[in-house]
Amino acid sequence: MLLKSVFLITLFFFFFLFPLSTSSATSPPATVCIVGSGIAGSSLAHFLRRYSLPSSSRIIMFDRNPVVGGRMATVTIAGHTFEAGASILHPKNYHAANFTEMYKLGRKKPVRSESSISLAIWDGQRFVFKTMSVESKSPLVQKIVSLANSVYMLFHYGFSLLKMDNFVEDMLSKFLKYYESFETRPIFETVDEMLKWAGLYNLTTRTLEEELFEVGLSPLLVKELVTVITRINYGQNVDINGLAGAVSLAGSGGGLWAVEGGNWRMAAGLINSSDVELHLLEEITSISYLGKYYELSSTHGKTYTCEVSVIATPLDEVNIQFAPRISIPKRNLQHTHATFVRGLLNPVYFGMKAVSEIPELVGTIEDVDIPFSSISVLKQHNETDMTYKIFSRKVMDDALLDDIFSARTDTIRINWAAYPHYNAPEVFAPFILDSWHLYYVNAFENAASTMETSAVAAENVARLILSRLFGDGPRSSPNCSSDEEILHSDL
Ligand SMILES: Cc1cc2nc3c(=O)[nH]c(=O)nc-3n(C[C@H](O)[C@H](O)[C@H](O)COP(=O)(O)OP(=O)(O)OC[C@H]3O[C@@H](n4cnc5c(N)ncnc54)[C@H](O)[C@@H]3O)c2cc1C
Repeated sequence: MLLKSVFLITLFFFFFLFPLSTSSATSPPATVCIVGSGIAGSSLAHFLRRYSLPSSSRIIMFDRNPVVGGRMATVTIAGHTFEAGASILHPKNYHAANFTEMYKLGRKKPVRSESSISLAIWDGQRFVFKTMSVESKSPLVQKIVSLANSVYMLFHYGFSLLKMDNFVEDMLSKFLKYYESFETRPIFETVDEMLKWAGLYNLTTRTLEEELFEVGLSPLLVKELVTVITRINYGQNVDINGLAGAVSLAGSGGGLWAVEGGNWRMAAGLINSSDVELHLLEEITSISYLGKYYELSSTHGKTYTCEVSVIATPLDEVNIQFAPRISIPKRNLQHTHATFVRGLLNPVYFGMKAVSEIPELVGTIEDVDIPFSSISVLKQHNETDMTYKIFSRKVMDDALLDDIFSARTDTIRINWAAYPHYNAPEVFAPFILDSWHLYYVNAFENAASTMETSAVAAENVARLILSRLFGDGPRSSPNCSSDEEILHSDL
């Protein structure tokens, strides 16, 4: 056991300290320009370096924001900092786990992952489902409450819960194929190909609701718990595609985690260690192919020439002019309004006598008259002073907040162009946007939008770039048995 651990740790360091291939070490350098410093752009830079982009090659990265990380952003309200966008990671998010390990970042448990967290489902009039909660901090008491809540959940939803679990596990086992070694894992030119290879494509052709009814879930479970989860994670109903739905359900399981100090720190670590020339507060306005290279123009009135250009942001709401023009399927983004409130909920709004009767996480079913998707406690400062996060499809105006809250000292509103508005069947943009070297990592977001899926897509695009630039592509070192083995070790 000890020997195995030592072996895996050695492999891990070998894997990250040394490039996997020397095949392109003698190839001519190329400048790669990346638009976006979120997890897609930053992990792309990392994988390009790791897979032997010639060391004299430049990586230039642009972000219109003043900080790196994109949708991995924090918000500070009344002196306390919380995740404002992407907040939770799944235990099987192996790239994120490796990044966190590589940069010696700490892990924390997000509030939502506490097994003892109390949950209620609000239908606009009353709580149709409500778990028990206790004040006690004793781990034993919390365990007992958590167990009692599981039994209650099983009683309310029946064995459909197990079928839901199997549905998620099946998706996860297929997704794990993306960590296999290069020997068994091809380089994908299209998202369709990438999904078909893993056995995940069919899930994107039907809605989550269709998929769940087929595996025998009860209408009650779909209408209540499943809807609550998709509304929290994607601000949408159960008519999202089955893969995004399965990913969303996986994000409600156990063992969830987040990076101490903010998930954006993964992007910071990846960029700092990948020899990237970073241009913050600089928006790219046009990308023109001039034969052999691209010219990128920015809001600073500057131009940059690069052999390879990579779009690492959704193209749906950005204003980049392409010459020649590119054509991708039309896609709408789902806007999620994240409202952070320091204050206290009004129990009367929920038909309760005391705030303590309102669970820490209130989810909602699908009803146009319910003005929010979820309200959760981020921090309890004391019994009458809390910080909450509200997700909604529309802006939460002051009048509405004054109905829902009895006291409110601070309010911060963020309107996120959050993720694709999912459909079934999904139509995917290509990874390669022209016949040359213009790439689009976020084409994969139509399958599902998470930090890990962005990193998985970026890893494939890094291999695609290297194979198309240098012909041979990156290869696993004979000393390195497989990515999967390393990525699956407990890091
Ligand atoms: C509210 C919310 C909650 C979420 N919760 C989770 C969660 O719990 N777990 C999870 O895994 N995922 C979650 N997600 C999804 C997750 O945030 C995204 O899938 C992921 O962060 C996408 O990363 P990215 O690098 O692909 O894009 P982004 O993070 O959006 O990065 C793109 C970057 O490109 C920059 N940019 C855009 N246009 C230009 C331009 N023209 N010039 C220069 N720069 C430009 C942007 O400023 C941005 O920084 C959530 C998202 C939101 C909004």
